[in-house]
Amino acid sequence: MAGAPRSIFARIAAGEIPCQKVFENEHVLAFLDIHPLADGHTLVIPKQEVAHLDQLAPDIAAELGRVLGLVARKVVQAMGAPGYNVLLNNGRVAGQEVEHVHFHIVPRRAGDGLGYRWRPQDRTPAELEALAARIRAVP
Ligand code: AMP
Repeated sequence: MAGAPRSIFARIAAGEIPCQKVFENEHVLAFLDIHPLADGHTLVIPKQEVAHLDQLAPDIAAELGRVLGLVARKVVQAMGAPGYNVLLNNGRVAGQEVEHVHFHIVPRRAGDGLGYRWRPQDRTPAELEALAARIRAVP
């Protein structure tokens, strides 16, 4: 739509803004994060401009998942990393700055100082059962 706001990643996907590309096909693009958490930190995006994962067309989501694993293998092999995180922030409250779906692949090494533990909370079995029921009830 003419004049509609476009994310910086939509503009990268359209070739209007440069990136350090590591993979591209018809629906998916992967490129280096400009402010990496570690060498090889890569973003994997759908070319379709969609803010959150649940808004993606199912076939595009499936393709994104397929490419995600493929690119992760390339990244960790190239970097010689023994592990990696795959992260996806959806919404500002979840830390999303760029409103265009993007998986982060972050290579990890012992002692890299990035950490990985959040703060898990305690819930009773009854509380967990009620929460699962609420989610199952959504069509
Ligand atoms: P998030 O907080 O999940 O939305 O992450 C946004 C990421 O996009 C950050 O890690 C930024 O460093 C990265 N980023 C922002 N602009 C660019 C750009 N032009 N090229 C590559 N990465 C970018």
